Amino acid sequence: MKQPKSATLQTTAKAPSDSTRPRPIDTRPDPMELFPLPAFSDNYIWILHDGQRALVVDPGESHGVLAWLEQHSLTLDTILITHHHADHTGGVAALREATGAHVIGPAFEPMPEPLQRVSAGEHVDVLGLRFEVIEVPGHTAGHIAFYAAEAKGSPLLFCGDTLFSGGCGRLFEGTPAQMLDSLTRLAALPANTRVCCTHEYTLSNLKFAQAIEPDNGALAAYVAKCQQQRAQNFPTLPSSIGVENSINPFLRTAEAAVVRSAQAHEPATTADAVSVFATLRTWKNNFK
Ligand SMILES: [Zn+2]
Ligand SMILES: [Zn+2]
Repeated sequence: MKQPKSATLQTTAKAPSDSTRPRPIDTRPDPMELFPLPAFSDNYIWILHDGQRALVVDPGESHGVLAWLEQHSLTLDTILITHHHADHTGGVAALREATGAHVIGPAFEPMPEPLQRVSAGEHVDVLGLRFEVIEVPGHTAGHIAFYAAEAKGSPLLFCGDTLFSGGCGRLFEGTPAQMLDSLTRLAALPANTRVCCTHEYTLSNLKFAQAIEPDNGALAAYVAKCQQQRAQNFPTLPSSIGVENSINPFLRTAEAAVVRSAQAHEPATTADAVSVFATLRTWKNNFK
């Protein structure tokens, strides 16, 4: 493990008259900072850091990550990976080579070796935070999520391409029943859990959500808020489990209005949650 840098505190004096005096040492535990670094056209590479050491999640590329870390005088400690797609793993080898970071990823997916492979029921301790590993197959067969219940402020969830704000990942390798089961596990996390998804798909997901539930007031309010954020080029993320449970049709397959819409679109749909989910997922694939 690398030594933390000690010079960072001295470089941030706020006024010129102050600049020669060392700032008093703050002995309170520093809150971790969370930052979604945009990558490609709509990915976010999540960075969590304590002012000295950082972890990154699903780095699809390395140049932007290295530049950001250097700009903020951070040492890369750990890389977490949720699944094997290239837009989540493409930067891993270069980051490991440049920083010596420890890499942790799913047990049952092709991965850039070497790495620590983890599966459901295990946990990893990173930057003093404990992350539980949650198995969430569906988008890919071995997809995992990382959940930190004790994160300062509120719990943290890195869920890759499983849960998106207002939507969910496509089923490349799993069945509707598997994905629904995975989403149900995430939906049961505390309402204040921060949901760190890997793509900025929110507005297009919400367009679909409104087609399913035109009378959902919470959804309408959330759409207005997200439109404002995107108009200013701010991320709509992280979302929260509480918000997703109230607006995301893929978590609301038991709601009468959602069942009705699914059946109106595909009359073969039954009231069974898996049937409703399967109809929504197929419908969304072709929704414009
Ligand atoms: Zn993916
Ligand atoms: Zn992706």
